[in-house]
Amino acid sequence: MDEQMSYGDDYKFIPATSIGSGVGVEVLPDLFCHTIQIVNICLVGQPDSKDFVLVDAGMPQSADEIISVTEERFGENNPPKAIILTHGHFDHVGAIIELVNHWQVPVYAHELEMPYLTGKKRYPEPDSTVEGGMVAKMSPMFPIEPINLGNHVEALPADGSVPHMPSFRWTHTPGHTPGHISLFREQDRVLIAGDAFVTVKQEYLYKVLTQEQEISGPPRYLTPDWEAAWDSVKKLTALNPSVAVTGHGLPMSGELLSDSLQKLVTEFDQIAIPDYGKYVPRNIH
Ligand SMILES: [Zn+2]
Ligand SMILES: [Zn+2]
Repeated sequence: MDEQMSYGDDYKFIPATSIGSGVGVEVLPDLFCHTIQIVNICLVGQPDSKDFVLVDAGMPQSADEIISVTEERFGENNPPKAIILTHGHFDHVGAIIELVNHWQVPVYAHELEMPYLTGKKRYPEPDSTVEGGMVAKMSPMFPIEPINLGNHVEALPADGSVPHMPSFRWTHTPGHTPGHISLFREQDRVLIAGDAFVTVKQEYLYKVLTQEQEISGPPRYLTPDWEAAWDSVKKLTALNPSVAVTGHGLPMSGELLSDSLQKLVTEFDQIAIPDYGKYVPRNIH
Protein backbone atom coordinates (compact mmCIF):
# COMPACT_ATOMS: atom_id res chain seq x y z
CA MET A 1 0.00 0.00 0.00
CA ASP A 2 1.19 3.47 -0.82
CA GLU A 3 1.32 5.53 2.33
CA GLN A 4 0.82 9.27 2.24
CA MET A 5 4.02 11.26 2.74
CA SER A 6 4.22 14.55 4.62
CA TYR A 7 6.79 17.09 5.75
CA GLY A 8 6.89 18.25 9.39
CA ASP A 9 4.58 21.07 10.51
CA ASP A 10 7.50 23.50 10.69
CA TYR A 11 8.73 22.78 7.13
CA LYS A 12 9.58 25.97 5.27
CA PHE A 13 11.90 27.66 2.81
CA ILE A 14 15.05 28.91 4.55
CA PRO A 15 16.54 32.13 3.17
CA ALA A 16 20.24 31.30 3.35
CA THR A 17 22.71 31.12 0.52
CA SER A 18 26.37 30.87 -0.50
CA ILE A 19 28.47 31.76 -3.53
CA GLY A 20 28.40 28.06 -4.35
CA SER A 21 24.61 27.97 -4.64
CA GLY A 22 23.55 26.54 -7.99
CA VAL A 23 27.10 25.49 -8.84
CA GLY A 24 28.03 21.91 -9.73
CA VAL A 25 31.46 20.28 -9.45
CA GLU A 26 32.53 17.08 -11.15
CA VAL A 27 34.71 15.68 -8.37
CA LEU A 28 35.35 12.46 -10.30
CA PRO A 29 33.97 11.20 -13.62
CA ASP A 30 31.25 9.35 -11.70
CA LEU A 31 30.81 11.74 -8.79
CA PHE A 32 29.03 15.02 -9.30
CA CYS A 33 28.19 17.43 -6.50
CA HIS A 34 25.82 20.32 -6.70
CA THR A 35 25.20 22.99 -4.09
CA ILE A 36 21.63 23.89 -3.18
CA GLN A 37 21.91 27.24 -1.34
CA ILE A 38 24.15 26.00 1.52
CA VAL A 39 24.04 22.20 1.26
CA ASN A 40 25.46 19.66 -1.18
CA ILE A 41 23.77 16.84 -3.04
CA CYS A 42 25.75 14.16 -4.90
CA LEU A 43 24.97 12.23 -8.02
CA VAL A 44 26.96 9.01 -8.16
CA GLY A 45 27.28 7.16 -11.47
CA GLN A 46 28.68 7.68 -14.98
CA PRO A 47 26.92 10.48 -16.92
CA ASP A 48 24.05 9.22 -19.10
CA SER A 49 24.15 5.76 -17.53
CA LYS A 50 21.05 4.13 -16.10
CA ASP A 51 22.78 3.14 -12.90
CA PHE A 52 23.13 6.11 -10.64
CA VAL A 53 21.89 7.30 -7.29
CA LEU A 54 21.25 10.58 -5.56
CA VAL A 55 22.82 11.12 -2.16
CA ASP A 56 20.75 13.50 -0.01
CA ALA A 57 17.85 15.64 -1.13
CA GLY A 58 18.70 19.31 -0.62
CA MET A 59 16.87 22.22 0.93
CA PRO A 60 13.12 22.78 1.16
CA GLN A 61 11.62 23.73 -2.22
CA SER A 62 14.63 22.68 -4.27
CA ALA A 63 13.03 19.75 -6.13
CA ASP A 64 12.86 21.53 -9.51
CA GLU A 65 16.55 22.41 -9.31
CA ILE A 66 17.54 18.86 -8.31
CA ILE A 67 15.46 17.36 -11.13
CA SER A 68 16.94 19.68 -13.75
CA VAL A 69 20.52 19.08 -12.57
CA THR A 70 19.87 15.34 -12.70
CA GLU A 71 18.31 15.51 -16.18
CA GLU A 72 21.20 17.56 -17.46
CA ARG A 73 23.68 14.89 -16.43
CA PHE A 74 21.72 11.70 -16.96
CA GLY A 75 19.07 12.66 -19.53
CA GLU A 76 15.33 13.05 -19.28
CA ASN A 77 13.12 10.18 -18.17
CA ASN A 78 16.09 8.54 -16.52
CA PRO A 79 15.47 8.59 -12.78
CA PRO A 80 18.08 7.56 -10.24
CA LYS A 81 17.81 4.02 -8.92
CA ALA A 82 17.52 5.24 -5.33
CA ILE A 83 18.03 8.12 -2.97
CA ILE A 84 20.51 7.44 -0.15
CA LEU A 85 20.31 9.70 2.90
CA THR A 86 23.33 10.46 5.08
CA HIS A 87 20.82 11.60 7.73
CA GLY A 88 17.39 13.19 8.01
CA HIS A 89 18.05 16.85 8.82
CA PHE A 90 15.81 19.32 6.97
CA ASP A 91 18.63 20.48 4.69
CA HIS A 92 19.27 16.90 3.51
CA VAL A 93 15.65 15.86 2.96
CA GLY A 94 14.22 19.22 1.88
CA ALA A 95 12.92 18.13 -1.52
CA ILE A 96 12.57 14.43 -0.96
CA ILE A 97 8.78 14.06 -1.12
CA GLU A 98 8.56 15.83 -4.48
CA LEU A 99 11.50 13.75 -5.74
CA VAL A 100 9.99 10.45 -4.61
CA ASN A 101 6.67 11.40 -6.20
CA HIS A 102 8.36 12.46 -9.42
CA TRP A 103 10.77 9.54 -9.76
CA GLN A 104 9.02 6.80 -7.79
CA VAL A 105 12.29 5.60 -6.28
CA PRO A 106 13.12 4.01 -2.94
CA VAL A 107 14.91 5.93 -0.19
CA TYR A 108 17.47 4.32 2.12
CA ALA A 109 18.74 5.49 5.49
CA HIS A 110 20.30 3.99 8.60
CA GLU A 111 17.98 2.06 10.86
CA LEU A 112 18.54 4.51 13.75
CA GLU A 113 17.50 7.41 11.52
CA MET A 114 14.18 5.80 10.58
CA PRO A 115 12.10 7.29 13.46
CA TYR A 116 12.99 10.79 12.19
CA LEU A 117 11.93 9.87 8.66
CA THR A 118 8.68 8.14 9.48
CA GLY A 119 7.05 10.80 11.64
CA LYS A 120 7.89 9.16 14.97
CA LYS A 121 10.59 11.30 16.49
CA ARG A 122 11.75 14.92 16.24
CA TYR A 123 15.38 15.99 16.38
CA PRO A 124 16.58 17.88 19.46
CA GLU A 125 16.06 21.64 19.28
CA PRO A 126 18.90 23.48 17.51
CA ASP A 127 21.17 25.18 20.03
CA SER A 128 21.12 28.89 19.21
CA THR A 129 23.16 29.61 22.36
CA VAL A 130 26.11 27.59 21.07
CA GLU A 131 29.44 29.32 20.42
CA GLY A 132 29.28 30.47 16.80
CA GLY A 133 28.01 33.06 14.38
CA MET A 134 24.84 34.10 12.58
CA VAL A 135 23.84 30.70 11.22
CA ALA A 136 23.86 29.32 14.76
CA LYS A 137 21.74 32.30 15.84
CA MET A 138 19.31 31.63 12.98
CA SER A 139 19.04 27.97 13.81
CA PRO A 140 15.79 28.13 15.84
CA MET A 141 13.99 28.73 12.55
CA PHE A 142 15.28 25.44 11.14
CA PRO A 143 12.65 22.69 10.84
CA ILE A 144 13.09 19.80 13.28
CA GLU A 145 9.69 18.13 13.16
CA PRO A 146 9.97 14.70 11.55
CA ILE A 147 8.97 14.15 7.97
CA ASN A 148 7.00 11.05 7.22
CA LEU A 149 8.12 9.06 4.20
CA GLY A 150 5.90 6.13 5.20
CA ASN A 151 6.84 2.97 3.37
CA HIS A 152 8.97 4.85 0.84
CA VAL A 153 12.01 4.70 3.13
CA GLU A 154 13.86 1.49 3.99
CA ALA A 155 16.71 0.71 6.36
CA LEU A 156 20.11 0.16 4.75
CA PRO A 157 21.26 -3.48 4.68
CA ALA A 158 23.06 -4.39 7.91
CA ASP A 159 26.02 -5.88 6.00
CA GLY A 160 27.37 -2.45 5.00
CA SER A 161 26.39 -2.70 1.36
CA VAL A 162 24.59 0.20 -0.30
CA PRO A 163 21.70 -0.56 -2.66
CA HIS A 164 22.55 0.47 -6.24
CA MET A 165 26.03 1.65 -5.20
CA PRO A 166 27.90 -1.66 -5.50
CA SER A 167 31.39 -0.23 -5.07
CA PHE A 168 30.50 1.74 -1.94
CA ARG A 169 29.98 0.69 1.67
CA TRP A 170 28.19 2.69 4.32
CA THR A 171 29.79 3.31 7.67
CA HIS A 172 27.92 4.43 10.78
CA THR A 173 29.12 7.88 11.88
CA PRO A 174 26.79 8.98 14.70
CA GLY A 175 27.10 12.09 16.86
CA HIS A 176 25.55 14.70 14.58
CA THR A 177 22.46 12.45 14.47
CA PRO A 178 22.00 8.91 15.85
CA GLY A 179 21.74 7.23 12.44
CA HIS A 180 24.19 9.37 10.52
CA ILE A 181 26.16 7.50 7.84
CA SER A 182 29.06 8.18 5.51
CA LEU A 183 29.77 6.38 2.24
CA PHE A 184 33.20 5.09 1.28
CA ARG A 185 34.65 3.49 -1.86
CA GLU A 186 37.77 1.48 -1.12
CA GLN A 187 39.23 1.31 -4.65
CA ASP A 188 39.87 5.05 -4.96
CA ARG A 189 39.22 5.97 -1.30
CA VAL A 190 36.39 8.36 -2.07
CA LEU A 191 34.42 9.53 0.92
CA ILE A 192 30.96 11.05 0.98
CA ALA A 193 31.02 12.23 4.58
CA GLY A 194 27.62 13.85 5.05
CA ASP A 195 27.82 16.13 8.09
CA ALA A 196 30.22 13.92 10.12
CA PHE A 197 32.73 16.67 9.37
CA VAL A 198 32.41 19.56 6.96
CA THR A 199 34.87 21.77 5.07
CA VAL A 200 33.33 25.10 6.01
CA LYS A 201 32.64 26.71 9.37
CA GLN A 202 28.91 26.22 8.99
CA GLU A 203 27.97 28.32 12.02
CA TYR A 204 29.27 31.55 10.50
CA LEU A 205 27.18 33.26 7.84
CA TYR A 206 30.21 34.97 6.27
CA LYS A 207 32.13 31.70 5.92
CA VAL A 208 29.07 29.92 4.55
CA LEU A 209 28.57 32.74 2.08
CA THR A 210 32.17 32.65 0.82
CA GLN A 211 32.64 28.87 1.29
CA GLU A 212 36.16 29.49 2.60
CA GLN A 213 37.73 26.03 2.92
CA GLU A 214 38.44 25.08 6.49
CA ILE A 215 37.98 21.72 8.16
CA SER A 216 35.37 21.69 10.86
CA GLY A 217 33.39 19.24 12.94
CA PRO A 218 29.68 18.71 12.30
CA PRO A 219 27.50 21.86 12.32
CA ARG A 220 27.44 22.87 15.99
CA TYR A 221 23.89 24.05 16.48
CA LEU A 222 22.49 20.66 15.46
CA THR A 223 24.98 18.26 17.03
CA PRO A 224 23.86 16.76 20.34
CA ASP A 225 26.49 14.05 20.96
CA TRP A 226 30.05 15.37 20.78
CA GLU A 227 31.80 12.22 22.10
CA ALA A 228 30.21 10.12 19.36
CA ALA A 229 30.96 12.82 16.78
CA TRP A 230 34.66 12.69 17.72
CA ASP A 231 34.74 8.90 17.41
CA SER A 232 33.11 9.17 14.00
CA VAL A 233 35.80 11.56 12.76
CA LYS A 234 38.46 9.13 14.04
CA LYS A 235 36.76 6.34 12.14
CA LEU A 236 36.69 8.33 8.89
CA THR A 237 40.29 9.52 9.28
CA ALA A 238 41.39 5.90 9.68
CA LEU A 239 39.95 5.18 6.23
CA ASN A 240 42.56 7.60 4.85
CA PRO A 241 40.28 9.11 2.19
CA SER A 242 41.88 10.64 -0.92
CA VAL A 243 38.94 12.92 -1.58
CA ALA A 244 35.99 13.91 0.56
CA VAL A 245 32.69 15.47 -0.31
CA THR A 246 30.92 16.86 2.74
CA GLY A 247 27.35 18.00 3.36
CA HIS A 248 28.50 21.61 3.49
CA GLY A 249 31.51 23.30 1.92
CA LEU A 250 33.71 22.50 -1.05
CA PRO A 251 35.20 19.05 -1.79
CA MET A 252 38.64 18.51 -0.28
CA SER A 253 41.41 16.15 -1.43
CA GLY A 254 45.00 15.01 -1.18
CA GLU A 255 47.38 16.31 1.42
CA LEU A 256 45.09 19.15 2.45
CA LEU A 257 42.45 16.58 3.32
CA SER A 258 44.71 14.16 5.18
CA ASP A 259 46.47 16.96 7.10
CA SER A 260 43.16 18.62 7.93
CA LEU A 261 41.59 15.38 9.14
CA GLN A 262 44.65 14.53 11.22
CA LYS A 263 44.42 17.97 12.82
CA LEU A 264 40.69 17.61 13.39
CA VAL A 265 41.16 14.27 15.14
CA THR A 266 43.86 15.49 17.48
CA GLU A 267 42.35 18.91 18.13
CA PHE A 268 38.68 17.97 17.95
CA ASP A 269 37.98 19.49 21.37
CA GLN A 270 39.43 22.82 20.18
CA ILE A 271 38.28 22.91 16.56
CA ALA A 272 34.94 21.16 16.61
CA ILE A 273 33.47 21.15 20.07
CA PRO A 274 32.10 24.57 20.95
CA ASP A 275 33.35 26.31 24.09
CA TYR A 276 29.81 26.57 25.33
CA GLY A 277 26.37 25.35 24.34
CA LYS A 278 23.65 23.19 25.77
CA TYR A 279 24.94 19.94 24.26
CA VAL A 280 28.55 20.44 25.33
CA PRO A 281 29.54 18.01 28.09
CA ARG A 282 31.21 19.72 31.03
CA ASN A 283 34.44 17.69 31.13
CA ILE A 284 35.17 17.37 27.43
CA HIS A 285 37.63 20.29 27.07
ZN1 LIG B 1 22.91 17.75 9.53
ZN1 LIG C 1 23.63 19.55 6.95
